[in-house]
Formats: sequence, C-alpha cells, structure tokens
Amino acid sequence: MADAAPDKGGSACLPDAASDLSPIPDDVYCLRCGYNARGLTGTNCPECGESLELLRSETSAIPWTRRREIGRFSAYWRTVWLVMFRPRRLAAEMARPVSFADAQAFRWVTVAHAFLPLALWVIGFALLVRPAPFQIALLDEVVKEPVAAGLATLGLLVFFAAATGMPSYFFHPRDEPVHRQNRAIALSYYTCAPLAWTILPAPYLGAGLPLLVLAWEPRGRMYLSIAMGLLLLEGLAWWIGPYRLLRCILPHHGKRAGALLASLPAAWFVLAALAFLAPLLIVLLLIAVWASFS
Ligand SMILES: [Zn+2]
Repeated sequence: MADAAPDKGGSACLPDAASDLSPIPDDVYCLRCGYNARGLTGTNCPECGESLELLRSETSAIPWTRRREIGRFSAYWRTVWLVMFRPRRLAAEMARPVSFADAQAFRWVTVAHAFLPLALWVIGFALLVRPAPFQIALLDEVVKEPVAAGLATLGLLVFFAAATGMPSYFFHPRDEPVHRQNRAIALSYYTCAPLAWTILPAPYLGAGLPLLVLAWEPRGRMYLSIAMGLLLLEGLAWWIGPYRLLRCILPHHGKRAGALLASLPAAWFVLAALAFLAPLLIVLLLIAVWASFS
C-alpha cells in the first residue's frame, strides 16, 4: 500500500525510470508531496519516492464502499477518520470511478447521526421548558410547544439535508472533464463526515438541559458549555473539510477553494434561516387564510 514507501533517494535510482506501466491518465497527486502523477509510468513518485500503488489501483480505498465485507460500523467510522484526517488519500479516489450511490448513502447516514440526537433534544426542550424561546409572545396562541418543536425538528432535517449537499457546487469546474467533475461531486458528499461526532455532545446536551431548567444546577450550565464547545469544534471541522479536499483534488483551483471557504458559512446561515423560518411562515399563512374564511 501507499504507506510502504521506499527510502528517499535520488530519483535516478527509483524504479520509476525502469518501469513501463501504462501512463497515469488523470491529474492525481502524490499522497506525500502532492506531485502531479499524470503521465507517470513508474511505480513510485519521482519527487519523493512514495508508492503510486493507490493512484494506480482500480479498487476504491474508501472503507464505506466495502461495508458489506468489513461491517457497516467499522466501515463507517474508518471512513469518517479517512475524510477528516487523510484528505490526500480521499482525493486519490479521483484516479478511478467514485460510486455516487455509496457517497449519498454515507451522506444520509451522517445526516441521521447529526439529526437524531438534536431532534430528540429539541423535542425534550419543548416538553421540559414551558417559557421556551420558541414561544414568541405574538405567536403564543397559535404556535404551541408541540407545533414549535415539530417545526424546529423539520427545520433541522431540511437544514442538514441541504447543507451537506452545498459544498458539491464548488467541486465541478467546467474546465474539468465530465468524468472528473462527477468523481469530485461524489467525493464532496463525504465531507459531511464531522457531523457523525454529534453523538459526543448529545449526552451533555441531554443531561445539561434538565439539570439547568429544572434545578438550576451549575453543573447543567457546565454540561451545556461542554456540548456547545464540542458542537463548535464539529462545525469548524465540517467547514474546513470541503476546502482541504478541494485543495487536494484540484490544487490549481485555489481561488475556487477560497471562495468555498468564504461562502460556506454565509450559505449555511441563509439556509438555516430559511429552513427554520419558512415552515413557521407557511403555518402562519395557513392560519391567516383559515381565519379569513371562518
Ligand atoms: Zn511525491
């Protein structure tokens, strides 16, 4: 595998010169030094000696694609690790077809990891805390806690479903061949991997809320602070991940990666506002229409 790199030495003594493998057809980059391996006919990088085996392989190295062999749990968490800490290895998948269906399946499993704990928390919040922030004075009469909790839960789902697809818009520049655009789009769906870690702050959220609301315990505040800190770290990783992957896949598109980094938080903010406010506005509109007829 790629880890078994030979000792560094002068490029003249590397096996590259002697090999006559077929040239690597696409822009794919050395896992260690980022050298463009396109056209190379050898087994090792001429710059640093790293093995090019992974760039030549026809089999995907994404554990999630082998989940039926190695088990879903292991495949999922090994993929989360790969996406978060080995972006160059993930970018090496550009050397072969990337399964769109597998990428989408990974995305939806990850959305579930983020959505379910937070949805349970929102429902708990609405049931436990009567003077909730959901209760906007004007709306008290029409939007009761269960409705507010339902709308907020729906908003969360809409937000995660749409937000995890947003980075893909930046992964298909038109000057790239279509097959590379498709591979890059599929890989972009893996960048939601940090959301899987929502299971870490979830117990702190779950324990902190009743402690704080029912007993005003300082421990409740501490738990909620820990939860918020973990969620913030997760959000940062989710934000930076697509940028790092795009830099590894298309290093010559630096401006595009910068635009992705700059616009993603604003796009997510607008999406969150739409996802949470739109259902509320629709309900109010329906109520107004209903009231005008009765
Ligand atoms: Zn190299």
